[in-house]
Amino acid sequence: MSEITWELFERQVEACRLCPLWQQITHKVPGQGDRNAPLMLIGEGPGQTEDEQGLAFVGAAGQLLTKMLTAIGLPRERVYICNIVKCRPPYNRVPTHEEAEACRIHLRMQTWLIRPKVILLLGGTAAKNILGEETRITRDRGRWIERKGVWIMATYHPSALLRDESKKPQAWEDMKSLKAKLQELGLYSDLM
Ligand code: URA
Repeated sequence: MSEITWELFERQVEACRLCPLWQQITHKVPGQGDRNAPLMLIGEGPGQTEDEQGLAFVGAAGQLLTKMLTAIGLPRERVYICNIVKCRPPYNRVPTHEEAEACRIHLRMQTWLIRPKVILLLGGTAAKNILGEETRITRDRGRWIERKGVWIMATYHPSALLRDESKKPQAWEDMKSLKAKLQELGLYSDLM
């Protein structure tokens, strides 16, 4: 196998035809942010604004995510943000198992390149794909799991918080827990 580099990752995502989603999109949305970040955020898949701009989490949910990160003292430029699938599923439907599986090669490569110490999974789709199909976001959010030295927690997707404000207090607990974990691990030493 050739050496894994960001250039190879970008080329592979751009050329990808491993599932049919590429046929209906405007742009691929590989992910963006600090490539040396100890914290990686994984969402579900691009929405309309993300598809138009080729950037992850730039629509309404993305704006809320930015606020949530700012609230714990983390400018979003200091984290890396991506999705389970790099192409927008039509009408923002949940990506199928086959689509998520086809796209896994890109997420694996990306995770290998970032080597995050902490991963925050945004929503049920990301949680099920990374932690297992049996995961239930309402039950399992806020719990830390260590896998091969990487700390992983799932929380509500910001879109879910926009739809249902009553979930916000739990999401805030999760964000505080995220901050505490980053501090405990000595990451982001300037985090107040
Ligand atoms: N929802 C997601 O899961 N990802 C995005 O990039 C935007 C909205």
